[in-house]
Amino acid sequence: MRRLEGPEIESYDVLSRELAERVRIVRVPVLFFGSNGMTIGRFVLLRTDDDRSGNRKLLAHELVHVRQWYEAGRCAFLRAYMGDYFRELRRSRCHRDAYLAIRAEREAYAEADAWAGRKQSSSLGSGCARCKQSAQ
Ligand SMILES: [Zn+2]
Repeated sequence: MRRLEGPEIESYDVLSRELAERVRIVRVPVLFFGSNGMTIGRFVLLRTDDDRSGNRKLLAHELVHVRQWYEAGRCAFLRAYMGDYFRELRRSRCHRDAYLAIRAEREAYAEADAWAGRKQSSSLGSGCARCKQSAQ
């Protein structure tokens, strides 16, 4: 188990610095449904944890969940998360569809995509004037 390291705290701005400093990363060999990451409160479970560059979209996604847990509160978060999942599972009988119907997941995917887009445009911004122009 580890804490987020300095560059990671700066990079993953999807949650407050205060909350980021409380996060604990736990590497686990197997997760439910073959997923690569899972969040329980401030504990982020990852199948692999080799990349500590602060550029990992999966970790940005999981850190959005950490923030969601704290914003909603544990009970309300779990009630909404499981409610969304089982409502769609009853309707579709499909785990994947049920997972994608969870509002917290849709929000985490959207925020991690936006985060990755910001990271990409800020790294392009450090190029020369011609590079910046062609990136627009
Ligand atoms: Zn998720």
